[in-house]
Amino acid sequence: MKSGPAQIAYVGLGANLGDARETLRHALVELDRLPGTRLVRASSIYRSAPVDAQGPDFWNAVAGIETRLNPYELLAALQQLEQAAGRERPYRNAPRTLDLDLLLHGVLRQDDPELTLPHPRMRDRAFVLLPLAEIAPGLVDTGDLARVADQRIQRLT
Ligand code: AMP
Repeated sequence: MKSGPAQIAYVGLGANLGDARETLRHALVELDRLPGTRLVRASSIYRSAPVDAQGPDFWNAVAGIETRLNPYELLAALQQLEQAAGRERPYRNAPRTLDLDLLLHGVLRQDDPELTLPHPRMRDRAFVLLPLAEIAPGLVDTGDLARVADQRIQRLT
């Protein structure tokens, strides 16, 4: 663990239950606390219409981290944070649903169903592309941005 070379990785965060904004803030702190990892940049928080899903709007952000965790270690850590968010009950009936996607890990490209990189659906999703473009504009293709322009999303201050 945490002995590999440092890489820049990008994580997509989403929540759509309860105090979703607080869930995202907490998740950013937790990312910064992962072993061999520090939070380098966090996007604004965005509010987006559910894609391929019913239910309330999602709250989204993208984080840039520097990490010595390898991609599988990082994925496992993200899944633990998701589970912990589902378990935590800071007050009665507090919903904590959190979704964390590993978008990019350095320049790695791979097609393993357990971990596909770059994330296979990131280029179709405004709620990934807009926050990613905010913190790492060079990583987002303007053609992709144009293709998702009809998806409802709002940047929050
Ligand atoms: P979901 O529940 O939609 O977040 O999907 C999680 C599943 O997708 C897990 O079983 C992961 O192993 C798999 N997966 C494949 N590539 C990725 C990725 N880049 N980021 C997160 N999960 C991934």
